[in-house]
Amino acid sequence: MKLRHICEVCGREEVLTPEEAYETGGDYPPHMGVLGIVSPRICPNCSIDETVWWKISVEHKDPDTLPISDRIIIERILHEPESILIDD
Ligand SMILES: [Zn+2]
Repeated sequence: MKLRHICEVCGREEVLTPEEAYETGGDYPPHMGVLGIVSPRICPNCSIDETVWWKISVEHKDPDTLPISDRIIIERILHEPESILIDD
């Protein structure tokens, strides 16, 4: 199944199967993390320490205090896979 793979750091978006995403070297579920649970979603060029997951899990920031752009990412993750399905 093809899904939108959106890098949360640079915004790069590609339509890939999970296997294709893994082969590109990006970090996306199910190879890294689980759909619907906050974990890093990044392309091969971006760094894990800029992800929302890092801010919450490593820096212990309160999600409610994060910028709106980060909260949009959290909402998208929590609503996977519906939020990353391809619109026909
Ligand atoms: Zn990126």
